[in-house]
Amino acid sequence: MNIHEYQGKEILRKYGVSVPNGKVAFTVDEAVEAAKELGTAVTVVKAQIHAGGRGKAGGVKVAKNLDEVRTYAEEILGKTLVTHQTGPEGKEVKRLLIEEGCDIKKEYYVGLVVDRATDRVVLMASEEGGTEIEEVAERTPEKIFKEVVDPLVGLTGFQARRIAFNINIPNELVGKAAKFMISLYNAFVDNDCSIAEINPLVVTGDGNVLALDAKLNFDDNALFKHKDILEYRDLDEEDPKEIEASKYDLSYIALDGNIGCMVNGAGLAMSTMDIIKYYGGEPANFLDVGGGATAEKVTEAFKIILSDEAVKGIFVNIFGGIMKCDVIASGVVEAVKQVGLEVPLVVRLEGTNVNRGKEILNESGLNITAADSMADGAQKIVELVK
Ligand code: ADP
Ligand code: MG
Repeated sequence: MNIHEYQGKEILRKYGVSVPNGKVAFTVDEAVEAAKELGTAVTVVKAQIHAGGRGKAGGVKVAKNLDEVRTYAEEILGKTLVTHQTGPEGKEVKRLLIEEGCDIKKEYYVGLVVDRATDRVVLMASEEGGTEIEEVAERTPEKIFKEVVDPLVGLTGFQARRIAFNINIPNELVGKAAKFMISLYNAFVDNDCSIAEINPLVVTGDGNVLALDAKLNFDDNALFKHKDILEYRDLDEEDPKEIEASKYDLSYIALDGNIGCMVNGAGLAMSTMDIIKYYGGEPANFLDVGGGATAEKVTEAFKIILSDEAVKGIFVNIFGGIMKCDVIASGVVEAVKQVGLEVPLVVRLEGTNVNRGKEILNESGLNITAADSMADGAQKIVELVK
């Protein structure tokens, strides 16, 4: 799960990570009011969307007085920001962070991730802050420093200081920077984050070390432990189809193509997407209905696929192991009964109760193209949506 920058900063503040003062605003008047309350000489108006790259896209503006705050708030609120992380359709800005302007001396990068190679939390930092870290990694990888954290010991003072020295934090601020990183690590672990990225971390003219940006992601599988973090969920930022799917515990990811896929098992779902692409088609989604799905769950899954206007054809690819083919067939028939079916449907069923499954589909009178194999099914659906 992803949250907004201002929410991330709220969490970080609780852990003693230094962040600038700021307030969230949902309207232009609230923005001006927030700036008045902050009372700082310079105020920054920041678009709050679940994507980075806002600065370059015009979503971060520095205001020198309240009139400018009003102008920028009017300009940004309601605007669709297109950044390198939003995709071409962009994201509409519905919230602003009105923040104290900082006197930036230098920008750095600090990030924590769960690293698969080491099975550890890794602290990464660079003196090339403000820019995309992916670019730094590509062009000047020697400028990224890492510390692997032992989960029993936690991030130690010496590791934090070593990384601060490596990224050339001024000597007199190394202590502050080290405290910053340890607090950030504590926030990361306590809240089961999967990413905590501070880009930029800044050193200010008056000798402070601050997080100017904050991107926190959380492990969905641990969210049941964190009711307070679940409160931060902003459904406006999520795909409505994915929200619906999460209600039924379905693993569903919306994609850009036009072939809806209903598959059981993440591996089979991945290879179904691959084979559709191989035959020249584009999948509209990833969907794993799971092993123990009920007919009701399959019905909801099928309805979600049908609700996607981009879908011009559906490929049901099931290998019944734990999942039974007749359950899938009943779910599909029920969904079509409820919402209709106007696009071609190709079904490949194999495994447990396959004959009963095929009978259910045949008896339903639905116009189904049967497939003998994955490859056959993929070719058929690609042909049919052409
Ligand atoms: P994004 O990463 O989405 O572009 P950031 O929060 O990193 O958004 O902001 C972009 C840039 O705007 C920062 O690198 C920094 O230079 C400037 N900036 C952001 N917040 C402030 C602030 N409170 N005071 C001064 N400058 C800021
Ligand atoms: Mg940033």
